[in-house]
Amino acid sequence: MIHLYDTLSRTIKELTSSDGKSFKCYCCGPTVYGPAHIGNFRTFLLQDVLRRTMEIDGLNPYSVRNITDVDDKTIRQSREDGISLINFTQKWTELFHKDCEELNILQPNVEPKATEHIEEQINLITQLVENNYAYVASDGSVYFKVSSFSDYGKLTKLDKRELQTQTETSGGATNFSDEYDRESVADFVLWKSRKPDDGDVFWVSPWGEGRPGWHLECSAMSMRYLGETFDLHGGGIDLCFPHHENEIAQSEAVSGKPFAHHWFHTAHLMVDGGKMSKSLGNLYTLEDIKDKGFSAMVLRYLLISGHYRQPLNFTLDSLHAAKSALNKIEKSVRDLLKNIGSKESEFQKFVNSERPKDLGFFEKAWESISHDLNTASCLGQIFSGLKILDAKIFAGISESDAIIQLKALGSLMYALGLNLFAEEKIKIRIPEEIKQLAEKRWQAKKSRDFSTADTLRDEIQSKGWKILDTSESYTIEAL
Ligand SMILES: [Zn+2]
Repeated sequence: MIHLYDTLSRTIKELTSSDGKSFKCYCCGPTVYGPAHIGNFRTFLLQDVLRRTMEIDGLNPYSVRNITDVDDKTIRQSREDGISLINFTQKWTELFHKDCEELNILQPNVEPKATEHIEEQINLITQLVENNYAYVASDGSVYFKVSSFSDYGKLTKLDKRELQTQTETSGGATNFSDEYDRESVADFVLWKSRKPDDGDVFWVSPWGEGRPGWHLECSAMSMRYLGETFDLHGGGIDLCFPHHENEIAQSEAVSGKPFAHHWFHTAHLMVDGGKMSKSLGNLYTLEDIKDKGFSAMVLRYLLISGHYRQPLNFTLDSLHAAKSALNKIEKSVRDLLKNIGSKESEFQKFVNSERPKDLGFFEKAWESISHDLNTASCLGQIFSGLKILDAKIFAGISESDAIIQLKALGSLMYALGLNLFAEEKIKIRIPEEIKQLAEKRWQAKKSRDFSTADTLRDEIQSKGWKILDTSESYTIEAL
């Protein structure tokens, strides 16, 4: 049984599949106009842990995650780069897939693209206009009339006055402030009439040439693949308003049924105690983390190590801590395997989505993850279990007991998506700058200029690397 906090009801609820066959989830996917950053990945990783946990629990999750491949940003950037929207978004989609694979994120069952579902979006707008939930402006854009949907604001619990202020102050970018003939400032765009800035990106609709507004695609694609009502909708907390509020309004106005039974929102990722932003230069990508000498698995460990409802603070130190924590788990598992005469590679056969009957010393770790996906507490409980286990190994563990513990750990590693012993297989990439500094230091040392050599060593260390000297040469390692 899995319990999880639901943003809509503000309660922790048991997850149950409404059709008794599969648990249907929709998660808002990436906008593909550049590499995804670690904040995006925190959300995708926690959704992945939830899905894996549901698999082990027997809920049979069925997951849809979209690709936003048309919006202001993708159009602007593809035009700046001088390539077609389709080639541009394809390039970034491929990088996203590669990053997901390295981070061990399971592929969704369906990954629909906005541009491949224009017809479904036009159909939704047609129904909204026919039923007076939407109106056509003089330029051919279509807007959702927020005042026509009395439940508007139910997810974020905003009253009408707050809504007005929120839309005016913070909703500008997402609500397309450039539109001038909205009847009310809270109304949001469903269809954007073609503008010169769109170049050749447009589709033909009953309201003229244009393209769908961003909010609409998730309603259209979730309904197409999961039906009018489904079990769980996920996304970063920043999507709660206005994106998810708008999704609810446009979907429920058409269907007259509840949209999603459960809303799963992930808190922000902070960097060095502050906000992440492009202008601060701290929007790290997986490549940036690898350039610092850490593997994708260490990043995965770090990004899932905090409870999803709490903001997580990312620092370089926390990456080091994640690396040593992961190494600690690996050490115990290695010792355990050695005890039954097995190699590291054989651990893989214990890693699967089957929940063992006997959870050995790790019962509490499973309880933690099943209760509001408390990954932080789950990892804490794993270390408590390992402490008992290490003592047991030291005293001599029987083969049957070792296998019980390996099965328990294997199912937990599956739930957390932690691929043990993956790091050694990945060659850590040392940045060119560090290689050059190390070579300069080696030359200084050889010519007995020890003070320059020491200064260079300090500089290398301040950048997160250390030099290990041998009599003939040296090696570079991440700190
Ligand atoms: Zn969405």
